Amino acid sequence: MSDFRELLTHSASLIADYREAVAVRPVYPEVDFVDARATIGSLQNDSISARAVVDELVGVVEPMLVGNTGPRYFGFVVGGALDAATAADMLAVGWDQNAFNTVMSPGAAVIEEIAGGWIKELLGLPLQASFGFATGGQGANTVSLAAARHFVLNKVGWDVEKDGLFGAPRVRVVVTGERHATIDTALSILGFGSNVAEPVLVNSQGAIDISDLTRVLERGMQGPVIVCLQAGNVNTGAFDDFVRAIPIAHQHNAWVHVDGAFGLWGAANPATRYLLEGVEQADSWATDGHKLLNVPYDCGYAFCAHPDAHRAATSYSAPYLKGQEEDEIRAPGDYVLESSRRARGFATWAALRQLGRTGIAELVEGCCAIARRFAEQLASVEGVTVLNDVVLNQVLVRFGDDLQTDRVIRAVQRSGECWMGATTWQGKRAMRISVSNWRTTEADVDRSVTAILDALSAKEF
Ligand SMILES: *Cc1c(COP(=O)(O)O)cnc(C)c1O
Repeated sequence: MSDFRELLTHSASLIADYREAVAVRPVYPEVDFVDARATIGSLQNDSISARAVVDELVGVVEPMLVGNTGPRYFGFVVGGALDAATAADMLAVGWDQNAFNTVMSPGAAVIEEIAGGWIKELLGLPLQASFGFATGGQGANTVSLAAARHFVLNKVGWDVEKDGLFGAPRVRVVVTGERHATIDTALSILGFGSNVAEPVLVNSQGAIDISDLTRVLERGMQGPVIVCLQAGNVNTGAFDDFVRAIPIAHQHNAWVHVDGAFGLWGAANPATRYLLEGVEQADSWATDGHKLLNVPYDCGYAFCAHPDAHRAATSYSAPYLKGQEEDEIRAPGDYVLESSRRARGFATWAALRQLGRTGIAELVEGCCAIARRFAEQLASVEGVTVLNDVVLNQVLVRFGDDLQTDRVIRAVQRSGECWMGATTWQGKRAMRISVSNWRTTEADVDRSVTAILDALSAKEF
C-alpha cells in the first residue's frame, strides 16, 4: 500500500473509532490548553511524516473534542453530521476541487445546481429563485442582504456596487427585535452599520408584533427599505407571521429577508409546515445545512427571488475568466462571497440523497418530538418551568430563579451526561435545550432528564 493510501485508511479508521465512541464518552471534555500548547505548540524546523502529523494531532485534539456529533449534545443549535454527508465531505477534501466556476470543477457545479434545486423544492421556495452555497447562516444572511442592498438602491437609480454608500439615498432596515446577531454583523459588513436597524416589538415568544411592524414602517421616511423577518428564534424556536408580515412590508416596497437558519427546515416536515405559511412570498431566505439538516460544518444557503440582484451583488469577472464561461450551468461562485472555495455541495447532496423526502421530514419531526418529550417531562417536575411554546426543536427551562438555573446548567455541563447551554430570555436566565441531531433517541431524553434532575436535587453544586 502506498503511504498516502495507508494514511487515509488510518485517518478514516480513527474517525470511525471516534464516532462509535462519541455516544459513550463524556459529552463535554476535560480541556487542558496548557498541555496542548506545550505538546504541539512550537513550530519545528524539521519535517516529519504525514502519519506522524495525524497521530500528533489526534493525540492532542481528540481528548478535547466536544461530543456534538453524539446524541446528547443539546447546546446552541448544532446538528450532528449524517453518515453520507460526512463521507461526501471527506471526498470533497480528498478531491480538492475549486468550486468557483464550472471550468474549474464541472462536478462541483452540477452537484450544487442539483442540490440547490432539491432544497428549494423541500422548503417550498420559488423554483426560479437563485441560490448560493455559503459558509453558514452568517454568510447566507450577508449574501441575502447584499442582494437586498443592490435591489432597493437600484430601484432609486443608485449603483451601490460601483458608487458605494457615501452619498447614497438612505436605506431603512426594519428588523424583528429578536433577530439573530448575525443580521447585525451583516449590516455592519455591508456598510449600513448595525445602528441603522429599526427594531420591531415582539410577543412573549419572540415573534414579530404585526401592529408594531406597521407602525414602524409608517412612521419613518418613505424610500428604500429592507425588512428582516425570522423563521425560528434561536431561543424559543418562534416564527414570525409571514402571511401577515410579508404583504405589509411589500406594501411599503420593502425587500423582505427571512433568516431561517434552522427554522426554514420546518417546511420539509408536513406537521410543522404551517409555521412557514406565506414564507415563499419573501425576497430572500437564509438557512443552514449544518444545523437541522445535519451536514458537517461549514454549510449554509442563501436563496433569492431576484437572481439578477443576487448576481449583481456577489459575482465578478476578470480578463482570465473571459471566454471561459459555461452558460449551460450556473457558476457556483457567482452567488457567494468567496472566490476560490471548497466543493461544499457534495455533502449537502449526500445528506438529501441519503434521507430522501421522507427521511428529511422524519428527521425534523423526530427533533420536534424529542423536544416535546423534554418539555413534558421537565414541566411535570415541581419547581421547573418551561418558558416557551415548543413549536419546533427549542426548549427553554427555568429552575426557580436565575441563580438556581445557572447552578443547574453548570452542574449538568460538568456531569458529562449531556450538554445544554444557558441563555437569558426576556430578562430571565434559562437552560436552552436545542434538539437538532439525527442520532438523539427517546432514551437519550430520559437519561438527560435524569441528569438534570440529579443536578437540581444535589445540595452542593
Ligand atoms: C445559527 C443561526 C444563525 C447563524 O448561523 P451560522 O451558521 O452560525 O453562521 C443565524 N440566524 C439564526 C436564527 C440562527 O439560529
